[in-house]
Amino acid sequence: MQPFIHIDIASAEEVIPLLDARTRPLAGGTDMLPLMKEGIVAPERLINLKRATNLRYIRVADDGLHIGALTTLDDLERHPDVRRDYTALAQASALAASPQLRNMATIGGNILQQVRCWYYRGDFHCWLKGGDLCHARDGRNEYHAIVEQSPCVAVYPSDPPAALIALDARLRIIGPQGERLVSVAEFLQPPTAQRRSLHGLGPNELIIEVHVPKSAAPAQRSIYLKAMDRATWAYALVSVAVTAEVAADVLRNVRIVVGAVANTPMRATTAEALIEGQSLTEELIREAGRAAVADAAPLEHNGYKLPLTRNLVGQALRDLRGSSS
Ligand SMILES: Cc1cc2nc3c(=O)[nH]c(=O)nc-3n(C[C@H](O)[C@H](O)[C@H](O)COP(=O)(O)OP(=O)(O)OC[C@H]3O[C@@H](n4cnc5c(N)ncnc54)[C@H](O)[C@@H]3O)c2cc1C
Ligand code: SF4
Repeated sequence: MQPFIHIDIASAEEVIPLLDARTRPLAGGTDMLPLMKEGIVAPERLINLKRATNLRYIRVADDGLHIGALTTLDDLERHPDVRRDYTALAQASALAASPQLRNMATIGGNILQQVRCWYYRGDFHCWLKGGDLCHARDGRNEYHAIVEQSPCVAVYPSDPPAALIALDARLRIIGPQGERLVSVAEFLQPPTAQRRSLHGLGPNELIIEVHVPKSAAPAQRSIYLKAMDRATWAYALVSVAVTAEVAADVLRNVRIVVGAVANTPMRATTAEALIEGQSLTEELIREAGRAAVADAAPLEHNGYKLPLTRNLVGQALRDLRGSSS
């Protein structure tokens, strides 16, 4: 690891004048430090956010849930209001990593987690790192995208953001120009030739809060399901977050988000439209599952993600329908 300077700060406001491309924030460190050890990133200065205790909170207000960026995944998983009213977020947090990691990992750092592609994490100067070639496209790609969004076929790795998109959450971000609000769905973007990253955070910006709006409908429910290749402590092969107002077997205002199939968690809007306001029959559930992957084109080694996604979408809809009784 290259030597770096460690700077402690006590509040979020102190961070902004210090940040630039070579001076990066450090939250739980569970992604940043491994990336530095592997020489994939080499900041000259790390701003340790952990003492900025004004960034660690979960506040329930009239307009919804306010989550400080330093709130850990463990905090989210355990909070009774999050579990009851924003269930998909609590479930997605609980299914991420291991208990020890969830104690350290913050929601801000989780949203900004780098791809887990083994070429990226290994000794390859691939397209996402600024090179010319995506080695996974014709190489080992069993965990990669089935929906192409860019020259890179890595999938977005984090669990909670798929739930946040289904719940229509927004980020509060501060920078030298002041504060901006952006939806998680807009913030997470496929990389481009000019911006080789999966998000739109500027080099001198800081995420300070996640806001999840409160649903006007008391019957709103949400769910997060994750398919893994072992029972715990694994990244998603495919994940699904669904929110809807549920009355008997009818779902309204449905939002379906599929994770680990593309560079970003993806809304399955055709599937949503199919089931909106309809009586949820088995045939309709199967149709929605098929619609969720209608635009997918698997790579050589990940065709299994097609049936897995169809089935996981179906299971989430059935579970949500069952939650009204
Ligand atoms: C073995 C292992 C298994 C894992 N499994 C899963 C899993 O199944 N699901 C899952 O979702 N995650 C998983 N993770 C990832 C883990 O959840 C993330 O590493 C963690 O959430 C990152 O949070 P952090 O606070 O440690 O971030 P850090 O490592 O401190 O930071 C990550 C990045 O975010 C930046 N950053 C942090 N906070 C802010 C902020 N407020 N504003 C601006 N920039 C910021 C940092 O500069 C850095 O670039 C796993 C990790 C490991 C090591
Ligand atoms: S999938 Fe993306 S991260 Fe992996 S090798 Fe290709 S360009 Fe690099």
